[in-house]
Amino acid sequence: MPAQTRLFLCLKDNYGVLVHDTERKATAAIDAPEAAPVEAALRSTGWTLTDILVTHHHGDHTAGIEELKSRHRCRVVAPEAEADGIPGVDETVRENDMVRVGGLEARVIETPGHTLGQVNYFFPADRLLFAGDTLFSIGCGRVIEGTPEMLWASLLKLRALPDDTRLYCGHEYTAANIRFAKTVEPGNAALAAREREVARLLAEKKPTIPSTLGEEKAANPFLRADAAEVAANVGLAGKPAAQVFAEIRERKNRF
Ligand SMILES: [Zn+2]
Repeated sequence: MPAQTRLFLCLKDNYGVLVHDTERKATAAIDAPEAAPVEAALRSTGWTLTDILVTHHHGDHTAGIEELKSRHRCRVVAPEAEADGIPGVDETVRENDMVRVGGLEARVIETPGHTLGQVNYFFPADRLLFAGDTLFSIGCGRVIEGTPEMLWASLLKLRALPDDTRLYCGHEYTAANIRFAKTVEPGNAALAAREREVARLLAEKKPTIPSTLGEEKAANPFLRADAAEVAANVGLAGKPAAQVFAEIRERKNRF
């Protein structure tokens, strides 16, 4: 049986998401920005919370953990390098560890850059990627604790995943990301197609995620820093991809 998912907004623009194994009745929340929307999603699905898989220590991803854990006695899985800053951690994980949610299995991918210890969870059988604040649709996280080079290397690990992988990220930032991406690649047809799709989704008051990694590889400038036309468009033709990436990230900070 494929994994089921339930996506919902938390706080201002955070996403919460549940991943559910129907056979074994296990359900994981990916991060816990706040408890109430997670509870509402559990009530509407009838699922029971068994696990919380944490991507990183920021409060807008962890503030709901203690309340949910005290009520559901669920297991809290978190990145080893950030466990001290995350409440209620039962198990820590690092690169290539496998995490089970009932019969579902996720591979841990360390993606430092936004924070130093961030991890993402990739469910290979269902082609689901939970990218936290590393990769957004048509964008990426800010470099807060690491370096641009570090985040670029992390994004390359995500880019190596299959095109049909569905990308779940931590925030609804897609429309603003598209406005910026057009300044980097005004002639990108895949980006124009994504812009039309996102406009339609937002007009229908629907989330813009999940997207697919295939769409992101074609349209997200932060995954395209090694494309010759992207380097040329930011005045860095022939320069190393990490340098081009750093320039794009810096321009986005100022945008
Ligand atoms: Zn964050």
